[in-house]
Amino acid sequence: MYYHSTQDKSKTVLSAQAIAQGISQDGGLFVPESFPQLTADELKAMLSMSYRDRAKLVIAKYLTDFTEEEIADCVDSAYTVEKFGSANPDPITSVDYNGAQQNLLELWHGPTCAFKDMALQILPHFLTKSLKKVGGGKDAVILVATSGDTGKAALEGFKDVEHTKIIVFYPVDGVSAMQKHQMNTQQGDNVYVCAIRGNFDDAQTAVKRIFTDPETQAILADHNMMFSSANSINWGRLLPQIVYYISAYCDMVNLGKVKLGDKINITVPTGNFGNILAGYYAYEMGLPVNRFICASNSNNVLTDFIRTGVYDKNRDFYTTVSPSMDILVSSNLERLLYTMSGDNDVETKGYMDALKSCGRYEVSDSIKEKIGAMFWGGYADEDATKKTIHDLFDQQGYLCDTHTAVAVSVCDAYIKETGDNTPVVIASTASPYKFSKAVLGALDKGDSPESEFDMVEQLHEITGAEVPEPLANLRGKTARFSDVTDKDKMQSVVLSALGIAE
Ligand SMILES: *Cc1c(COP(=O)(O)O)cnc(C)c1O
Repeated sequence: MYYHSTQDKSKTVLSAQAIAQGISQDGGLFVPESFPQLTADELKAMLSMSYRDRAKLVIAKYLTDFTEEEIADCVDSAYTVEKFGSANPDPITSVDYNGAQQNLLELWHGPTCAFKDMALQILPHFLTKSLKKVGGGKDAVILVATSGDTGKAALEGFKDVEHTKIIVFYPVDGVSAMQKHQMNTQQGDNVYVCAIRGNFDDAQTAVKRIFTDPETQAILADHNMMFSSANSINWGRLLPQIVYYISAYCDMVNLGKVKLGDKINITVPTGNFGNILAGYYAYEMGLPVNRFICASNSNNVLTDFIRTGVYDKNRDFYTTVSPSMDILVSSNLERLLYTMSGDNDVETKGYMDALKSCGRYEVSDSIKEKIGAMFWGGYADEDATKKTIHDLFDQQGYLCDTHTAVAVSVCDAYIKETGDNTPVVIASTASPYKFSKAVLGALDKGDSPESEFDMVEQLHEITGAEVPEPLANLRGKTARFSDVTDKDKMQSVVLSALGIAE
């Protein structure tokens, strides 16, 4: 299996190179040259497999330059009972919301309580093995721009991993108190965390620029280092996410919610378009899916895009209660455009160039039609999000986080508008305790305490929902990091964090 750049098809690399490098030198993203197929027999056989065995089967189809032992080692080290609390890291909880059944795929039982653990617990294993194959003895410098959850999940995944260093930038006013505390208290000798004055898009743009800057790359090479990425632009991030959609389908069959071969709908609370794209890739492999419902918050650039074919980031940016979706430039959409254009690198590059120069592009009628056939876009504003948390708890005694609430709300709107009663899986992306303040406010049970951990306690008293241990354990930990920088100074921050004087 070879990988191409979305912006230059003539480039072909093996998966180890794609994972080690993170992003193609031309600025494009690595995509598989074709989608390996999942046969009906394989899907049937997967029904009785453990999560780990399902993962090994799917991953082997893509990482053809890895041995079976290497893949098994990655999977077995990542999805342990110790880290995910159970041999099944992604249980499904079914609830009835406003009279329709929704099946919540809880992807947040890992060490940092967000779905990003599903990928970031395995990525370091993929990466260290990739570096052995193609790294030329260099250390990897992982640069991360985060809207909150990726940062912590990447820090936890990479802490003290040999031959890696990790540097995380987050928007100073764009993450929850718990997210900030999680990152600033991070342990490990190879980690550095810094806030930036700006939003997530500013952080992501700057990271991408530093990453592909030949001068900075040369400085790193002189010090026997190379950049890599833990953002969802890295193929090693997307691949593990494909696995859980396939696994969820198997679980839906095993739970008697669908018959093998019947289609499901998949709803995903979306920001950078990585999670939903992984679901779409599973569909391209043959997973029976009817529709993808793309749920946005007030930053609804994707809702408009799916409905009109026009992507326009020139709009107000909102800081919402679902900060991990406060994004106006959804990087992974580039990969969808590449597939939907029939693997047309020139066309894809044209859209991305337009996005860079004017912040806007309009896709061809053909792409618009294909996207409209498989995707439905909707959004939930702040009031709708809070009402959903409140009503779902009221109706079912189930507590969901602010991001999952966006998905539940949009899924509810989709069912009402279309009457489509295909069984639906909703990606539940974070523990409600990462966003205690907003969740407590939504429940509307009187005054909230001031401190984050008192809020956690109050939320627990009201709902009885279990507080995840990794969050409870943070109480009383002192911060190691408190730096804040301007977005145009990030490059020198990176070099000094690496101990390289300019
Ligand atoms: C990252 C994140 C999202 C958005 O996922 P994308 O892959 O960026 O679309 C949604 N919810 C939570 C809790 C997240 O951390």
